[in-house]
Amino acid sequence: MADKRDYYEVLGVEKGASDDEIKKAHRRLAKKYHPDLNKDNPEAAEKFKELNEAYEVLSDKEKRAKYDQFGFAGVDPNYGGGAGGFGGGFDMGDLGDIFGSMFGGFGGSSRSRRNAPQRGETLQQHVVLSFEEAAFGCEKEISVTRYENCESCGGTGAAAGSSPETCSYCRGSGQVTQTQRTPLGMFQTSAPCPQCQGTGKIIRNPCKKCGGVGKQRRNRTLKVNIPAGIDDGQSIRLSGQGGAGVNGGPSGDVIVTVSIRPHPIFTRDGSDVICEIPISFTQAALGDTLQVPTIDGKIEYNIPEGTQTGTVFRMRGKGIQNVNGRGRGDQYVRVNIEVPKNLTHKQKELLREFENSTTDENQVQRKGFWDKVKQAFNKE
Ligand SMILES: [Zn+2]
Ligand SMILES: [Zn+2]
Repeated sequence: MADKRDYYEVLGVEKGASDDEIKKAHRRLAKKYHPDLNKDNPEAAEKFKELNEAYEVLSDKEKRAKYDQFGFAGVDPNYGGGAGGFGGGFDMGDLGDIFGSMFGGFGGSSRSRRNAPQRGETLQQHVVLSFEEAAFGCEKEISVTRYENCESCGGTGAAAGSSPETCSYCRGSGQVTQTQRTPLGMFQTSAPCPQCQGTGKIIRNPCKKCGGVGKQRRNRTLKVNIPAGIDDGQSIRLSGQGGAGVNGGPSGDVIVTVSIRPHPIFTRDGSDVICEIPISFTQAALGDTLQVPTIDGKIEYNIPEGTQTGTVFRMRGKGIQNVNGRGRGDQYVRVNIEVPKNLTHKQKELLREFENSTTDENQVQRKGFWDKVKQAFNKE
């Protein structure tokens, strides 16, 4: 520690040097001692480290002032070795910062590393289908607005013929680490590199088209294959069709959620189709052949004599394709007897005549009910 070189000396500038002079000196020396250019040269690595330490202090107004006043002891808590090395300068504000960075570090470290590969944005889209489109499947087009890599620079952000340089200050890591000594012990805190804003790269000659961002927002029309049997509220994932990834990360996805418009006569329960059909009293009494609508077209279906209102008939395999497998659901047909209205004089006469002709055998439920009433109220 004792042989530490003065920070101004390291940078080769005067004590009163301007921020700009310090910056220029750092840049010049960083190039000279950069590890990439000095492979297997430990002396250069040491110099580079020394240089960055000096720059970290002298480029920071507050740290520079402390250094000017107290020397190394003002900026390096390890300097001098003793517990009082930092002059007792500790307040609750510092503690808050330290705890903030401690807890912020859990689980959040990869998020705060801005040069880490990140998956592109996942986009949500919505598509409305007719009942039949959902039942049989179809192809739909949707439009999305997504970030794509700039076609001029391929996403690097650097103008044609150039490429981004690795940040010399953080050596491409995007992070700078500081060690702080506190009554609770030593804490390492890391922050995005101030030189490259945490990207680890410096773009000296930005791409004209995207201004160095590397991304452009684009409207795209995408085709979506809707599988047969998809149900309301289900969604389809278009892998890799979302926003372009960052720092070499994969593209995001597009998630297309489906809504199904109601059908005038069919309703759906999973892969089963339900249809309610009104029939006349006479059809119910005599039996009839109904032309039952299904999603495949009309199918003849015989309802037997004496069909009661609300009876449900099941037509196997006439429902909707199972979206996740083979086979089809069923169609359920519920028949409801419609009581005739607006009868003519003649029709009323016929019905009265019919009613007078009925016996208990014709209306078993009616007879049963009144038998029970009789038993309940005339016990003696
Ligand atoms: Zn570009
Ligand atoms: Zn950097």
